[in-house]
Amino acid sequence: MTSVEYYDEKVETASREEILRIQFNKLEALLKKVYASNQFYRKKFDSYGITPSAICSLNDLQKVPFTVKKEFEEEQEKHPIFGTNLTEPLENYVQYHQTSGTTGKPLKFLDTRESWDWRGKCACYVMKAAGVRKGDRIFFPFNFGPYTAFWIIYEGAYQLGNLIIPAGGWDSLQRLQSIIENQATVIPVTPSYAIRLGEIAYENHIDIANSGVRIIMLSGEPGGLVPGIREKIQHLWGAQCYDWIGMTEVGAWAFQCTEQPNAVHILESEFIAEIVDSEAATPVQEGKVGELVLTNLGRSCMPSIRYRTGDLARVKKGLCLCGRTFQLLDGGIIGRKDSMVIIRGVNIFPNVLYDIIENHIQSEDDYRIEAYRGKEGDEIAIQLEIGDNSRKEEVQRAIQSEIKKKLNLRIEVKTFTKGTFPKSDYKAKRFIDRRKESSV
Ligand SMILES: [Zn+2]
Repeated sequence: MTSVEYYDEKVETASREEILRIQFNKLEALLKKVYASNQFYRKKFDSYGITPSAICSLNDLQKVPFTVKKEFEEEQEKHPIFGTNLTEPLENYVQYHQTSGTTGKPLKFLDTRESWDWRGKCACYVMKAAGVRKGDRIFFPFNFGPYTAFWIIYEGAYQLGNLIIPAGGWDSLQRLQSIIENQATVIPVTPSYAIRLGEIAYENHIDIANSGVRIIMLSGEPGGLVPGIREKIQHLWGAQCYDWIGMTEVGAWAFQCTEQPNAVHILESEFIAEIVDSEAATPVQEGKVGELVLTNLGRSCMPSIRYRTGDLARVKKGLCLCGRTFQLLDGGIIGRKDSMVIIRGVNIFPNVLYDIIENHIQSEDDYRIEAYRGKEGDEIAIQLEIGDNSRKEEVQRAIQSEIKKKLNLRIEVKTFTKGTFPKSDYKAKRFIDRRKESSV
């Protein structure tokens, strides 16, 4: 075992009782503050007949109503610009971000100086768990847009006192040259862009596998916990990959440590995570899959309380070799509730297919998965973009046969010429859901 880095060892290795005590104390303070001056939550709690004084233990959290994304959306629509989920006067807010709007109208989120510091602190936990040390140079290979994802890693790096190298406004080649020239050691990036940068380095004879880069921090898409993707990135970069999970609505709430290739820790000192049956909305048995519900404890200015994420997860029992006592989620996010495709009675999440596809393609290739409504229910078509025409048939057959073997399903696999799919240096859109469109 390599030496484990902690951000706050006392908290990260605390007993279960201590973690629950930290959570309750923070929850109590949050509810009091929010109820006193947040119009959105006060109205919501009043309509359920709940006051903060009714919450005397963590078990009482179940009395608090859930929040769903649609409520936030309607709220901002009805009360432009920022809605009424604001606990402080508008002039106290210093940071603006928004969601990408892939599942609806973008949601606007604001932070005060205090909540922004908290978001950065969450990122510090994430970075230390990935093994970031004093002296590491953190390289950001993209433009900083209105999405929070990498802004908070930037803030975390600043708080930790690491050198930050921003590389927006450059092309991929300039970024790679700067990584080498400035001896960057840590790259926060999306999995698809990590692969694309690796591919460009290879084409341009830039030896990134033997550069100083030792840590790739992945987020934004499934990757760090999909073995096929993780291994490809590790091979291209000669570095270790670590996943972390965040949402604009809640913050960076889970991270991979150096000792768990297939699970993430929940940042339990800053978030309360519940796993509920997505239909009945009651807690599932430990170890069973359910919908993840999150409460962020350090963002009272614009909180998300019992927020239904739509993500499915399951708790992994047992302790981690890293010494952290924060609970683990087996495989991270298993999939989104709405991305499950049921093909002839078999439940499939895109992640399972990503893993199979990645086993057979090369870094110059690309792929997308399209779900649609067929005559007999959900169907999936895999679209492959293969760089070398002579490999098309072989790759197509290999993927089809592995799917048949592992899932006992026949899935259509089509091939396309390289350059057909749109490319992005942020997120690749790999899952296209056409099931709500008219059936084909
Ligand atoms: Zn661990």
